[in-house]
Amino acid sequence: MSDKIYEYKDDQDWYIGKWTDFNAVTAMASILEGDSELQLLKEELTALLAQEEKGFAITVIKKTSDFRLISFAVDMIASETKRPLKVTQHQGAVLVSEKDKLLLVHLPKGGTGLTKFFGDRNQSLGDTILIATHNEGKTKEFRQLFAQLGLKVENLNQYPDLPEVEETGLTFEENARLKAETIAKQTGKIVLADDSGLKVDILGGLPGVWSARFSGADATDQSNNAKLLHELAMVFDLKKRSAQFHTTLVAAKTGKESLVVEADWPGYIALEPRGENGFGYDPLFIVGETGKTSAELTAQEKNEISHRGQAVKKLMEAFPAWLNTHLS
Ligand code: IMP
Repeated sequence: MSDKIYEYKDDQDWYIGKWTDFNAVTAMASILEGDSELQLLKEELTALLAQEEKGFAITVIKKTSDFRLISFAVDMIASETKRPLKVTQHQGAVLVSEKDKLLLVHLPKGGTGLTKFFGDRNQSLGDTILIATHNEGKTKEFRQLFAQLGLKVENLNQYPDLPEVEETGLTFEENARLKAETIAKQTGKIVLADDSGLKVDILGGLPGVWSARFSGADATDQSNNAKLLHELAMVFDLKKRSAQFHTTLVAAKTGKESLVVEADWPGYIALEPRGENGFGYDPLFIVGETGKTSAELTAQEKNEISHRGQAVKKLMEAFPAWLNTHLS
């Protein structure tokens, strides 16, 4: 450590620096009281001293350029430690690197545009996740959720040449795995697939994986509901008409063990349809003990408690750790 006093001075900027015994930027004193930008710079520059035993103090007398101040601090560190530190400017940000390692990114006030910063690569930062659905509504919901994790979301409409995956499984998990793992193999992407349905206890879990086609190949929501009511026509006690909506979600990537999460939403099958919202069996599904069918809930009310909502919450908890694990 030297006792040398470092100084930078021009018409707009003037700093004085001194190396100290503490492993931090111990002071970033300014004649401008409470300058929060200087506080941030102090924290950022302290990170550069992680492996050092010493730190430094800088007095800022005049400052117009973050680049100049960072360059001043980095020059001080480099001249005391002989580290090959380099300062560059990029789209308003100041970058500090050491050989090929980026150590610090100091952003301009208000940030900088992602596309401007990284160039227009027609994709956002990080990975892309492909949702195995053609449904834009479903995709939109997942897009909002995965944006929090910095992931870009696509769906099958962007891959019109991919063959349709037949849902030949006998369980929700088999079907969701089949879709996710087949498409992951075909595209090399991280793929998320879901399979949902209604399980009615007294029907041994039917319609289950056949929920969409319960009343035949040309099934509609109405014909499926009519068939369900017909099957339960002799069951008068509501307690015996217990059922669950079920969702299984599978995230797959080649070379990784797939991530599987699932959730059940318990309820009872009503004696007649009620409510205008939702889709599928919603008008017949009485939610828990509330007496309301899920078609009488708003979309937001349903999403907060439904099988799909619960499964997505579980997925969001487990997904970041799964993404970071690699099979050896
Ligand atoms: P999918 O796997 O999400 O396409 O769901 C398969 C079938 O299960 C749908 O066609 C519906 O008949 C039924 N289903 C799944 N989730 C729901 C729901 O939230 N409300 C009503 N019906 C549902």
